[in-house]
Amino acid sequence: MYVVVGCSECHGFWVHDGTGETAGCPGCGTRHRLDRLKMFARTDTVEAARTARGALLAARDGHDPATIPGYADLEDDVADPLVTDRDVLEAHGIDPDIVAAVEASPPSPSDRATRVERTIVSLEEPTIEEVVAAVEDVPAETVTTIVEELIHNGAVVRTDDGLRVV
Ligand SMILES: [Zn+2]
Repeated sequence: MYVVVGCSECHGFWVHDGTGETAGCPGCGTRHRLDRLKMFARTDTVEAARTARGALLAARDGHDPATIPGYADLEDDVADPLVTDRDVLEAHGIDPDIVAAVEASPPSPSDRATRVERTIVSLEEPTIEEVVAAVEDVPAETVTTIVEELIHNGAVVRTDDGLRVV
């Protein structure tokens, strides 16, 4: 008999022959009592166990561990997720601090254009001045430039009734 067990320390899965008192996780080296380990699959052949392990890994890597029966139980005695975004990024050689800095950076120009466009849509017959006044956190000059670019690109037209998104 073979079992696929899950590690509460590193969330790894591995195939074990189901015998003995303890089982060492090949992922992080933690020694678990076999009867305390969560068993995700029980198979007759090692091949079947490996297939089951592969399916479990695929499901987990698809970021939907909820679809794995019992997987959530691994979290029971763990306050924080053991594998954090930071760990994943670091594993790929990416500095998480740089990612955090990028995520915290100001909206990109295209975001601003979207906001300007939305503002034009939300206002009735707005002038450029009204749009500038309505868009928050973007300098007036920038809003004016964006509106002019939108007009230039044909995304916005000037009508007798003010600006209008085409
Ligand atoms: Zn482990």
